[in-house]
Amino acid sequence: MYKNEIKAIMHDKKTEFEKISDMIWDTPELKFKEFNAVSIQKNFFEAHGFLIKENLADIETAFSAEYGSGSPIIAFLGEYDALPKMSQVNDITSKKPVQANGAGHGCGHHLLGTAAMEAAYALKVLMAQYHLKGTVRYYGCPAEEGGSGKAFMVREGVFNDVDAAFSWHPGDATVLINQSLSNARVLFNFKGVSSHAAAAPHLGRSALDAVELMNVGTNYLREHIIPDARIHYAILNAGGDAPNIVPPEAESIYAIRAPKLTQVVEILNRVTNIAKGAALMTETVSSVKVVSAYANLLPNKTLDSILENNINLSLPIKYTTEEIAYAKSFNSLTADSDPENPIKTNLYKFPEHFVPPMSTDVGDVSWLVPTTTLGAPTFARGTQVHNWMAVAQGKSSIAHKGMHFAALVLACSALDILENPDLLKDAHRDLIEARNGDEYKSIIPSDIHPGEF
Ligand SMILES: [Zn+2]
Repeated sequence: MYKNEIKAIMHDKKTEFEKISDMIWDTPELKFKEFNAVSIQKNFFEAHGFLIKENLADIETAFSAEYGSGSPIIAFLGEYDALPKMSQVNDITSKKPVQANGAGHGCGHHLLGTAAMEAAYALKVLMAQYHLKGTVRYYGCPAEEGGSGKAFMVREGVFNDVDAAFSWHPGDATVLINQSLSNARVLFNFKGVSSHAAAAPHLGRSALDAVELMNVGTNYLREHIIPDARIHYAILNAGGDAPNIVPPEAESIYAIRAPKLTQVVEILNRVTNIAKGAALMTETVSSVKVVSAYANLLPNKTLDSILENNINLSLPIKYTTEEIAYAKSFNSLTADSDPENPIKTNLYKFPEHFVPPMSTDVGDVSWLVPTTTLGAPTFARGTQVHNWMAVAQGKSSIAHKGMHFAALVLACSALDILENPDLLKDAHRDLIEARNGDEYKSIIPSDIHPGEF
């Protein structure tokens, strides 16, 4: 019932949501600094009768907007942060920043947050019109990229009363995302002794040497960890600009990923030992700090099947010949070039035990609240996120269509719960089963605050 009404409600506001998404694309903001995006979204919700709560978990750019009362409490998880150095002119098929070194929406979070708003809005209108019981709540979640914003929100109990959470992610395909890798971001700092590199090299102890040796050691470690794990690093502080000064301080950041948090912790301990070894070799002092962490996403059979059903009911997305031509121009630049099918149109299913090599802080929510997530096609086939091509297509009509499609699937799935709240008992049982006896525990130390790094 009511699914055609949801479509009609969304259709009436279509242009407004496209404008909101475009405005957020136009003003990309980095983690924990998403002030403009939050103000655009809050204004919309205020104007449409939602109750706003600000500064969730003491984070300035985390908020919620809700309508209704009592159970079930349905949450839509929105995001809006951009990525550094991803600035890109829209709709062109070559790399060209709008602003040199500027930020850009390389992961489509301008679409992500807006579709979640659209779903919350449509459900609210429907609930008001037909006097449906329950609460619909939109969560504005900051800093998915590198900040694990939701993990901090979970830590402060922000999602404690939620019965079911719905999320999605832009990409190049329609896919049910029900697993992801757990991930920890860790700073490794080395302190040495500076000296004149020519006049007194024997008095210096190079922190940069330690960073390099640690990376070499970790590269050897890779052969001896589980194949699903990933370790990558960036050097944040290479110790200085002058070769004639022995670098007294250097720092790298590591991301360590694996299917389970316990595996991440085990690998982190081994990498920490390598850091200690590098410090011993170079007579420097090492320190280690976990600055953000993402739990793996837990599947939820009940919610996933509701989502899949609504995906099938909402497909296909129809494209114009202009859109197909537009997609072709980007698709031809990718490793998955297919001139006949430059946009993926079918539902793709990951093999049963395949864990997609990505991480999301939706994972942290999924350990506490039955949660489900879909991927929707907002870009041409083969487009990788965190790449200029995703930014370039971010305001296209293909991106908008994918956003509306995701919003429709999310709203219809939430409606299924509102109409049949007994499904929540099954969803809760699935959550317990998926935890498999493990308890949720974030490895972010309690003295690390959101936005500190
Ligand atoms: Zn993302």
